[in-house]
Amino acid sequence: MKIAFIGLGNMGGGMAANLVKAGHSVNAFDLSDAALAAAAEHGCATFTDARASVEGVEAVVTMLPNGAIVKSVYAESVIGHAPAGAVLLDCSTIDVDTAREVIAAAESAGYDMVDAPVSGGIAAANGGTLTFMVGGTDTAFARAKDVLNPMGKAVIHAGDAGNGQAAKICNNMLLGIHMIGTCEAFAMAQKLGLDPQTFFDISSVSSGQNWSMTSYCPVPGVGPATPADNGYQGGFATALMLKDLRLAMEAAESSDAAVPMGQRATSLYEDFNGAGNGGLDFSAIIRML
Ligand code: NAD
Repeated sequence: MKIAFIGLGNMGGGMAANLVKAGHSVNAFDLSDAALAAAAEHGCATFTDARASVEGVEAVVTMLPNGAIVKSVYAESVIGHAPAGAVLLDCSTIDVDTAREVIAAAESAGYDMVDAPVSGGIAAANGGTLTFMVGGTDTAFARAKDVLNPMGKAVIHAGDAGNGQAAKICNNMLLGIHMIGTCEAFAMAQKLGLDPQTFFDISSVSSGQNWSMTSYCPVPGVGPATPADNGYQGGFATALMLKDLRLAMEAAESSDAAVPMGQRATSLYEDFNGAGNGGLDFSAIIRML
């Protein structure tokens, strides 16, 4: 298949390389020369004009920083420029309303389009083991799946347009909340004189058990190997957790959902990020607690 890939940063670079490895012919476009040079090394054809990159392709994949950029790239360079039969996939994490707006514009121009945000970080993008949460019609999902398979270990249909983004931000809001709860519990256990390993041994098989404790323990030396064992380097950056929490708060407002715990988690991550910790793994918030 001939595929255009727009946005070859930390995530998109590895994803495009996996499409090439699967035998697809990939047209790469990015504003960054360094990103284009890396894409060329991975076997992509590089373009300095977004519209030229989508000419004659069967699919367009975008992996961009935010909703405003996604909206302008689709309006200016993809819709009306990619061939009429192309399937369009936005894998960026953006707000639900913008995702629905862009997909509606694409559909009214005759395209099949999905939102397909990912779970998994840079290592999963490079390794082709992302999980894709996909919103769109049954037809668009079936077509998108063939494009997504070489980049992921799971491709899940979340429902109509925008539901991929909805699944992503609801999941990450829950993750932010239970990470903070886990950190609080470890910090208080220690103040009460409990050894962290002993608390882990008890709570990980009791009703407090959760993913932040058993798979991503924020305490160094306790549980499986995690970013906590590496000075909170790597993993899922605090700045990206905060981005997802802010998107969740926007969605809560526009859907009139009550999210008191999500609001509290957002404000705690705002404090931690504002203190210069944006590059640390999100489990490092235990230091603040
Ligand atoms: P990044 O900043 O490394 O990459 C974004 C790329 O988009 C850059 O190379 C930039 O030059 C390019 N770009 C910006 N504006 C452009 C435009 N108008 N036209 C073409 N290219 C343009 O970001 P990333 O970490 O790769 O994240 C991309 C998306 O994936 C974000 O929405 C992010 O929230 C999401 N995400 C990231 C991670 C992660 O761990 N990094 C995990 C899950 C989801």
